[in-house]
Amino acid sequence: MIQQCYTMHDMETLFETLKTFNKPGEMKGITRLAYSKEDEAAHQFMVETMGEHGLFVRKDAIGNIFARLPGQNSQLPAVGTGSHLDTVPQGGAYDGALGVVTGFYALMQFKAGELLRDLELVIFRAEESSRFGFSCIGSKVMTGKVKADQWAENVDDEGQSFFQVNDDAGYASEKIASCCLPDHYFSAFIELHIEQGKRLESDGLTIGVVNGIAAPTRFAVLVRGHADHSGATPMYQRQDALVASAMIIEDINHAACRESPWGTVATVGKMEIQPNSMNVIPGEVTFYVDIRGIEKSSISRVASRLQEAVHKAEKDNDVTITLREISSEEPVKLDDGLCDVLAQQCEKNDISYMKMLSGAGHDTMNLAQRYPAAMIFTPSKGGISHHPDEFTHFSDIEVAATLLKETLRELGNRQ
Ligand SMILES: [Zn+2]
Repeated sequence: MIQQCYTMHDMETLFETLKTFNKPGEMKGITRLAYSKEDEAAHQFMVETMGEHGLFVRKDAIGNIFARLPGQNSQLPAVGTGSHLDTVPQGGAYDGALGVVTGFYALMQFKAGELLRDLELVIFRAEESSRFGFSCIGSKVMTGKVKADQWAENVDDEGQSFFQVNDDAGYASEKIASCCLPDHYFSAFIELHIEQGKRLESDGLTIGVVNGIAAPTRFAVLVRGHADHSGATPMYQRQDALVASAMIIEDINHAACRESPWGTVATVGKMEIQPNSMNVIPGEVTFYVDIRGIEKSSISRVASRLQEAVHKAEKDNDVTITLREISSEEPVKLDDGLCDVLAQQCEKNDISYMKMLSGAGHDTMNLAQRYPAAMIFTPSKGGISHHPDEFTHFSDIEVAATLLKETLRELGNRQ
């Protein structure tokens, strides 16, 4: 039933095949937004592939996928691995997909009943925040962190909420509570992912053993001024929403720079301007602030600086500003014991590694609040991610996939 020999070459082919699930006509990188046709097709392809290879596959009410390889005792909590398949617009091929294909490769190295515990590959839905403005929906749903009211408010570019999109895709939002996994579902969870930074590359190391994940706190800022003729309105009479926004953005940038010793960062990467015309003073601006770090107090300092900047910009520019928190996640410490297992495996197999923090959020940060969890990072060339040029050498991927396999073997045989 289980294919006896699933090689690195098979894994590479699978990875290349996943690249073909892309928005029609996309010339730059991969665009596979959560629940888009191409995202749905990629998930369906994996369901079929994993089923054909003998795994027991199920989907939950939002389309998270679980593929299980039975061990000797399926009553014991399973050992999990996995990642996501959705991407940002014009993203890379490695973010998420790499954790899926290496996880599948690792499971395929064992026969049913070979290990004590079941192994389970998870494909999380809607990890990227690109569509709905908040991230890791699949893993939040699995760990009972649904915020129905807040989620209903955050709509995509077509004005649809996650729940509407989920139902339109043929899933069942009314059964979302059934997606929550029981206690002791996993004895351990390991996600393999690209680093998305350049620390491994700069230090010439092959593996990052991730022992903590920085968490995003996000705000939407709506600035209301007054749209007027750009020629006929003197400077002192203006209520320029974009000038007010620019002042706030500069302030947040300074605030985050001051927090660099704690690794905190802040970004404004999305903005909508009304009426967005060269000869009209901007009357209304919406922009989004993304603050991340490991130290909660440091994140709070940047967030309170944002509030101060908002008040000052209101006064200085005669505009009104609404600040709305979209999401606020807790920074997460990963399991020391699992990190040690990964480190020992690296040492045993002569793999160069370092223990490190992840600046980007991952599904594992939700799982880690319920189950022991850790992550394996592979180097990102030039630290580039969320970009068509995202790249990881296949030789590094082979090392990481082998490390994942050996770690699953050890954890899968633990009493
Ligand atoms: Zn990712």
